[in-house]
Formats: sequence, C-alpha cells, structure tokens
Amino acid sequence: LSDRLNSVFKKFSGQKTLNEENVQEGLREVRLALLEADVNFKVVKQFTDRVRERCLGQEVLKGVNPAQQVIKIVHDELVDLLGGGTTGLDLRGKQPYVIMMVGLQGSGKTTSSAKLANYLRKQKMKPYLVPADVYRPAAIDQLHTLAKQLGIPAFASTTQMNPVDIATAAYADAREQQCNVVILDTAGRLHVDEQLMNELVAMKSALNPQEILFVADAMTGQDAVTVAEAFNAKLGLTGAVLTKMDGDARGGAALSIKTVTGTSVKFVGMGEKISDLEVFHPDRIAGRILGMGDVLTLVEKAQAEVTQEEAEAMAQKMQKAEFDFDDFRTQMRRMRKLGSLEGILKLIPGMGKLRDKLGDLHVPDKEMNRIESIINSMTDQERRNPDLINPSRKKRIAGGCGMQVQDVDNLIKSFAQMRMMMKQMMGGGKKGKKGKMPA
Ligand code: GDP
Ligand code: MG
Repeated sequence: LSDRLNSVFKKFSGQKTLNEENVQEGLREVRLALLEADVNFKVVKQFTDRVRERCLGQEVLKGVNPAQQVIKIVHDELVDLLGGGTTGLDLRGKQPYVIMMVGLQGSGKTTSSAKLANYLRKQKMKPYLVPADVYRPAAIDQLHTLAKQLGIPAFASTTQMNPVDIATAAYADAREQQCNVVILDTAGRLHVDEQLMNELVAMKSALNPQEILFVADAMTGQDAVTVAEAFNAKLGLTGAVLTKMDGDARGGAALSIKTVTGTSVKFVGMGEKISDLEVFHPDRIAGRILGMGDVLTLVEKAQAEVTQEEAEAMAQKMQKAEFDFDDFRTQMRRMRKLGSLEGILKLIPGMGKLRDKLGDLHVPDKEMNRIESIINSMTDQERRNPDLINPSRKKRIAGGCGMQVQDVDNLIKSFAQMRMMMKQMMGGGKKGKKGKMPA
C-alpha cells in the first residue's frame, strides 16, 4: 500500500489547494485502505462522500502534498465518526445495573463478560456473572471457571433452566449478595435467528438492562454490519465490544457498526487473557483502519512547522514591539488548543527566559474568556494599534462586552507591560544583527 501511496504523492507535489481532482486521487487510496480494513462498501462510499466535501478548497500545508493532506483529514473525520473521545459505560438508575452481552457464537461474549467483570471490579464495583447460554453445557462451565478464577460470584445456571428464568433468579441473587452490576452472558448462534432474538428480547424485558453490548469479532468486518443491524433492530444496542483486535484485523468493523447502528464501540478485546480488555480509543483505531501511520505523522509535523514559521514572525514583531491585540488573540486561541501558554512559548525563539520568569503560566479558562471578549469588542484598528484606545473608546469597549471600564483598563495596562517585557527579552534590536533571531 505504501508504494502505491508514494507514487500518488509524487504526482501531487507542488499543488497549492485541494481541488476536485487531487481530492479524488487522495480518496482513492483511502477507499482502498478502508476496503482492505474490511469496512462495508456502502459505509465506505458514504464516508468518502462526506470527506470529499470537507476537503475541497482547503489549502495545502507546506511540506506535504494534497493526497497526504486528504488522508489526514480523513483520519480526523474517522476519529470524529468513531465517537471522538472514549465513550464509557452508561450505568445509571436502579442498582444492581444490568449489562447484557449479545452477539454471534464465537464472537467472544463469554470471554468478554469475564473481562468486563474484572474491569468493573477494578473500578470499585461489585460484579456478578450470569451464564445464560443453556444450549451448550460447556458455555456455562466456561464462565463458571472464569468466575472462580477471578473470585467473582456467578449464578448456578443449569442447562435445564430457561434463560429468562435464569436472568430473573440471578438478578435476585445478585441483589441479595449486594452486588451492584450484573453481567449477562447470553447464547449465540452461527447466524442471526428468530428464536434466539425472541429469547433475547424476553430477557431484555425481564431485566431492562442499562447496557446491551454487541460483541463482534474484529475479523468479521463486512458481516458485522448485517448482524449488528439485526441485533440493533430487535434489541436497541447501547454499545459494542470489538474482540480479537490482537490479531491482524484492521478494525474496519468498528466503523461499520458505528455507521450502521449509531452505537459506539466501548471496549476492545486485545487477547485471550482476562486482563486483555481495553477502553476503546477512536484515534488508535482510526490510525489502524487507515494503516497510514507515517502519513499522519508527516502531516502533523508539517502542521507544527507552520506554527514554527508563524512563531518566527511573531518573534520579529515582539522584538519591534509591534505585537498587537490581534496577535495576542491569535496566540490565546492557539493556547486553548494546545492547552498551555508554555507550549506556545516553547515554539517562539528566545522566549525560554520569559517562561522561567513568569513561573506558573496557567491561565484559567474563565479569565481567558473575559480577555477574549474584551479583545473582540475592539475595532480592527484598535486591535492593531492599542495606543488609539482613549477613555471614550475604553468606555465603548467595556459596554460592548458587558464589562467595567476598569477591566478594559487592566487588560490594556498588562498588555503594555507584556509588550515592554517582550521587547526587552528579545533584545529589542539593541544587540544582534537585524533579521536574526536570538536563539
Ligand atoms: P462466545 O461464543 O461469544 O461466548 O465466545 P467466547 O468468549 O467463547 O470466545 C471464542 C474464542 O475467542 C475463545 O477461544 C476466546 O479465547 C477467543 N477470544 C475472545 N476474545 C478474544 C480476544 O480479544 N483476543 C483473542 N486472541 N481471542 C479472543
Ligand atoms: Mg459463550
């Protein structure tokens, strides 16, 4: 795949914006990567259509070519689509909570039930395991063995009982034993089947689970879609567990499941051991689905380089005391993105000393909001030339952002101080040759 990508990239070097043609080309590679990751083709089409719209007209970063940039945009979209951050379990309401594990035979329900119990116990909860697969005697034993190994209570199900009775009796027992989360391991079939579905629906009505997790084998990318659809239609899934991600599966199933059912993957199975359960991270899976880690790093670096270039320009302005409220606002916005002022100062040549001087640079969000709203109330002219701001302008600015004149005054004073300090720190052109930045 890399080779193929590289040849595409070569063709595009030198183009400045993303247009119909180069986006198309970049997306061709993405489409192949998605299909290779076994994402359902309908999902692929829907997704690439969305991305195409977002790409068009964007400027190409220095140091990368259009196709590479398309891939980065695709990656970010993928992360968003997969849920952005991590989506944890949503356990609320009456205790004990109930988590029902559903899915095809062999998908990893029993193993994941035990893993989840172990995970929840680490979260200071008291789990209770319920083997409700009465069709295979070995399935009950399998969960009992795991429960015993973990020292977690489990219901003494037998193959003679019916699953709904097991569920209700187990729930009562869990409450008696003061457990606060019941995990139901249900039966699976090789294919979606009416009888099993009805049984699962009956169990759902009996216990009203907070979570119904669809357990899917990561290797079954395409098939996962129809199966997930069927389970979702009958049961209303609340999340998914993607198992066997320790294999060579790229995780396309995660994307397919999310797109088709709207439910997020909440956990990932990374091996056969009980501890091999991880909370789902969309960015990791997105990178894996695309299998283009190098490209992503490259584009991230290019983005950092642009900031570096801007930083040099900023340093020049500081040196000449030309740093204005526009620059200040830009930096402030960036600061929010990067999370700290320190991150920005590190990028600006010569600012290391200032950083030491200022000590703790953490500015609370609320304060930043106030500052930004004052700056927003200024006119463009005022932002570029703070000296213009006389008392009557101050009054207008304060009125515009609903603050006191004193607040505006304070900001302008500290800004003037900061500008002086910057100029001094940067040498202010006194020593050193013009145009050269102090290191
Ligand atoms: P069930 O039929 O849905 O209950 O599936 P099981 O829990 O019995 O799992 C089927 C097989 O998959 C077993 O051999 C498990 O050890 C294996 N398995 C489950 N989860 C994972 C995983 O995350 N990684 C690997 N490598 N194997 C797994
Ligand atoms: Mg099982």
